[in-house]
Amino acid sequence: METLYRKYRSQDFNQVFGQKSNVMILQKQISDGRVGHAYIFAGPRGTGKTTLARIFSKAVNCSNNKNGNPCLKCSTCKAISQGRFLDLIEIDAASNRGIEEIRKLRERVNFSPAEGKYKVYIIDEVHMLTNDAFNALLKTLEEPPSHVIFILATTEAHKIPQTIISRCQRFNFNLADDKTILAKLKYICKEEGVEFTDEALMTIVKNSGGSFRDSESILEKVLGAVGVVKDSKIDLEDVEDILGLAEEKEVIKMVDNLLKKNTSKSLKIFDGVASQGVSIFQFLRQSLEYCRELLIQKVSYKRGDFKLQHLLKVIVELSDAENRLKHTQVARLPIEVAIVRICSDDGKDESAIQAADAEDSKKKKFPELVTQAITQIPGKLKTVKRERNDITAIDLATIEKKWPLIIEKMIPFNHHLSAFFRKAIPIKVEREILILQVPFRFHKQRIESPKGREVFEKISQDLFSLSLKCSCEVVCREKEEDLDNVIGENSDVVLEVLGDIIE
Ligand SMILES: [Zn+2]
Repeated sequence: METLYRKYRSQDFNQVFGQKSNVMILQKQISDGRVGHAYIFAGPRGTGKTTLARIFSKAVNCSNNKNGNPCLKCSTCKAISQGRFLDLIEIDAASNRGIEEIRKLRERVNFSPAEGKYKVYIIDEVHMLTNDAFNALLKTLEEPPSHVIFILATTEAHKIPQTIISRCQRFNFNLADDKTILAKLKYICKEEGVEFTDEALMTIVKNSGGSFRDSESILEKVLGAVGVVKDSKIDLEDVEDILGLAEEKEVIKMVDNLLKKNTSKSLKIFDGVASQGVSIFQFLRQSLEYCRELLIQKVSYKRGDFKLQHLLKVIVELSDAENRLKHTQVARLPIEVAIVRICSDDGKDESAIQAADAEDSKKKKFPELVTQAITQIPGKLKTVKRERNDITAIDLATIEKKWPLIIEKMIPFNHHLSAFFRKAIPIKVEREILILQVPFRFHKQRIESPKGREVFEKISQDLFSLSLKCSCEVVCREKEEDLDNVIGENSDVVLEVLGDIIE
């Protein structure tokens, strides 16, 4: 079966996604009749170098080209699209790197084109040529026959001798941005008649690291595994299943080394994982899951040979990396930065980092996992002794019975707030004040905020015809104070995260 990458390879300049300025300049050269004899196309794999080289070969040889764009209908255009045009010669320098190949090339270069106007040589991975081969090539580039065009494609331009580079027009190819790759994938999906959720498609984009080829082969892998079901969208879960998980032991090794602040080992483990084609997103998520287990062990059972504060730092940095990953072109970088920051000493460096971060810390989401971990720590509130107080107009039993309804009524007012109340347990009523027990200080802050009181009063007025106030007692255990402090400082962001959890 034809691969998606081949099937949807752009055939003319208009079909190219991205590389706008390169496309524009090349097309203009053709329409102006100012075509050069030697080009270097330099850039990472999958950015469209050979695709554009073929379109260029087509355009220079097409006699019906419009504004420099090939017509795609004439025999030349068709022959090139089908890979059977005699005057387009593609050489893979990775497997033909010696002087013999280039000598042969030099002999043939002098013959006129068989069918077209120009003989075009595309030499892929040209940096692989030996020195002798480069010298031989240079002689040709110094006096190229007028009917010959060389396009030298490379992923490592710095390995090409300066003498060669100076003879060529250089075009740099950049990794495509997310939007451009997404646009191309959407186009392919439409043509193929398959539907993806936006989230699922974006995950493919994020894992392709700016390479069209990689994005298309992941898409193909997913389609091959999931198949196309009529009227059904392929979702995030489907994609993540295909993208592959890291081995559990790698995840454990990574987090352990982070907790030991071993920078080089952590970086090495990550490099190993990333180069196995494991989804970086998945790996982060798996690492955070494991951190969460450690957090529960530490907080609930005091297990683990590390400082709680340091584990929290690991969680915060990795979660931060996860957010940054969504906005970066270089997928590995946010994790590498996180590793270095986690392992750096908590001295001056740390305060410098904090100072630098202070500005945008308010915008950052506090790691969801920390919050989830605390809300799931078992049995914390069960030991509490409940007191009864019958002096007031309303008794605790009535409130307890209506408590779920109170929370439900709160959702339309403010669903964040309702999440905080959900974590609270009514323990007594003193006159017109309901005393609630809450796990952490940030719960208290939110419930006792003006907004919290206002909403609660309104609802109690509705239900009990009584304007009940509420006050919170925090039952944070000694060992959890660290956690509480960290969250207390971030309660704004916690609010946001909790909102996500209940939705
Ligand atoms: Zn044509």
